[in-house]
Amino acid sequence: MKKFLGILAAIAVGFFAFGIVTMITEANEPIFGKNQADDQERAKQISLEILRGESLRRQIGNVDDFTVKRVEIDDLKMAHTHVQQTINGIPVWESEAIVHLKPDGELLNITDQLKETVTVNTEPNFKRSEALNLAKQTGRGGTRKLTDEPKIDLWIYRGDDRDHLAYRVEMPRIDGTAKTSVPVVFIDAQTGEKVFEYDNLQTGTGSSLYSGTVTISTSTSAGTFYMEEPTGRRQGTFNMNNTGNTSTGTGGTQSRYTGTDDVWSATNERAGVDAHYGAAKTFDYYQTVHGRNGIDGNFGPGTTTSAVGAVPLVVSRVHFGPSYNNAFWFNNQMTYGDGDGSTFTPLTTIDICGHEMTHGVTERTANLTYARESGALNESMSDIFGAMVEAFADGAVSSNTWLIGEDAYTPGTSGDALRRMDNPNAVGDPDHYSVRLYPGTCTPSNANDQCGVHTNSSIQNHAYYLMAAGGTNRVSGVTVTGMGTNDAARVFYRALTVYMTASTNFAGARTATLNAATDLFGSGSTQYNTVATGWCAVGVGSCPGGPTPTPTPTATPTPGGGGELLVNGAFESSVSPWVSSGTGAFYTNAGSYPHGGTGYIYFGVNNSVTGQSYQTVSIPATAAGTLTFWLNVTSSETTTTVQYDKLFVEVRNTAGTLLATPATYSNLNKGTAGVYSQKSLNLSAYKGQTVRVQFRTTMDSSITTTFRVDDASLR
Ligand SMILES: [Zn+2]
Repeated sequence: MKKFLGILAAIAVGFFAFGIVTMITEANEPIFGKNQADDQERAKQISLEILRGESLRRQIGNVDDFTVKRVEIDDLKMAHTHVQQTINGIPVWESEAIVHLKPDGELLNITDQLKETVTVNTEPNFKRSEALNLAKQTGRGGTRKLTDEPKIDLWIYRGDDRDHLAYRVEMPRIDGTAKTSVPVVFIDAQTGEKVFEYDNLQTGTGSSLYSGTVTISTSTSAGTFYMEEPTGRRQGTFNMNNTGNTSTGTGGTQSRYTGTDDVWSATNERAGVDAHYGAAKTFDYYQTVHGRNGIDGNFGPGTTTSAVGAVPLVVSRVHFGPSYNNAFWFNNQMTYGDGDGSTFTPLTTIDICGHEMTHGVTERTANLTYARESGALNESMSDIFGAMVEAFADGAVSSNTWLIGEDAYTPGTSGDALRRMDNPNAVGDPDHYSVRLYPGTCTPSNANDQCGVHTNSSIQNHAYYLMAAGGTNRVSGVTVTGMGTNDAARVFYRALTVYMTASTNFAGARTATLNAATDLFGSGSTQYNTVATGWCAVGVGSCPGGPTPTPTPTATPTPGGGGELLVNGAFESSVSPWVSSGTGAFYTNAGSYPHGGTGYIYFGVNNSVTGQSYQTVSIPATAAGTLTFWLNVTSSETTTTVQYDKLFVEVRNTAGTLLATPATYSNLNKGTAGVYSQKSLNLSAYKGQTVRVQFRTTMDSSITTTFRVDDASLR
């Protein structure tokens, strides 16, 4: 009976809202832009009605159970309703929709990450406290200690094979040691198994110390001055008092910066001045350029009450340590280490300040998950707007604008930088989607930087650089005419705040920025085409009016220099540029036994065949010359002594003449299908030469063997 009433109610609401939409379409006049609260309510009702229409066609659950997270009416008088998919009161991880309405209330489009046919029992088998115990026992948790309250929430998580009711357990360890991290582990709430994990510490890695003598806004009461601005920007800077040698377990003890005058030039005050100045410039940039009042849009989030006026302040914390080589955004605060003096000096440069605060903006808008491609986009947004804040403070764009963290990074080396937006390859980062790190399946871990969030970020960084400043991409050879930083920043800010969601990937970022460019400048505009060409240049989508350019084989960069020299060593999507011949050499992009991703090459399989695959590569004199690859051998041979079927790893010159055979494998190396082992071979004798790296098989006349090769690398 209850259910029946629910259906009747839904129909009634449906007719009502449908009537409104029809009336609006005929009038074709702006309906948003008058009273904010009324507009938001109107937009919300229209949007929900549109989603109810969606739910008639698709199994996305009951739209009336969904949570409306926020409704924004923008400068263009368009309305954007952000909705969280929810089933039986439990939110579905990374499952959102943003309904975009034109000023007249008509549907423009939907950013749609809703999941269909969610199938899960929403009753947990155990409590939150048990979930925390289980999370602590995982690799991420270990015997870890917590410095802050863990956050434990129930979510529905779509795994590789099924949906899970899962506790998302966030376990902060913010103590300034090298183990400082915020691991997030998803524990199945029925079986207790771990289903996903990543690290949610959103880092920068990476008088005033850096900006000369600057003016900062402070406050005073009864003869004491505070490094706090309770009116205006509502920001304050605090000292964690770490002197660089001791660990207090919390990274330091927070105290106010106080003085008997308004001059802040003592040694322990200078990093504070940088952070305070950087926070102010970041605030001013967002307010002046994008009309945003601080990180949350409303002069917050404040976490410490000001000494004067008792106002909640947005907090920057400096001298966090000991010798902590990073800066991060966590718990609604910016935190900066002092560095160890060799890798970093205090991480309070203006671009790092802009970077950290942008993590706060991202958290409150798209909330891009800090792993894999969405994590790389999250990092990139921080680099982009950090650079824009630096240019804003400098009053002009310069070559330094495009260097990230240059003032704090490796003080012993001048002219270098942590990352480079203009030329990521120069510092070993990818500048094209085809040379991204972890192209296949990747499990986020601290060791792989959440699948390369600080590395693959350079792909969007470089796209942005090309769109703003113009230039030619090294890999694709595509040239982009820049539209300037003003238009480019508007496009990316709108993409971040209006069109991106937690699970947006590179392809989605292209769509989001094209949507933003359409709204701001029109779909056929110069800016729209610049955005499209910029993405095409870095290998994401096709160029306007042309096909997708084929990347020319070229060196793949990796973090920390020592660039990858093989192209497509992961064998994903195609075997190119590997050259295969013979009847015993094969490629699959959808085989049953990949090491990573879906593609790999394999050899043998049939009796009396030979075959080979090679790639020509120039090994610089500066490279290590180490070839690694993953090998899996299966065989029907039963001998434990005789090599009947073989796989040779060969170095040949460009004419095909054999120079060396660094390794030979055979049926004696057989194991279980899909269980690979990594091989490492020394090719340093060929540094400074251009050679072929070749895998070649010979099979004898009876009983077969299969050699699978995947994820090859030469550095
Ligand atoms: Zn970051």
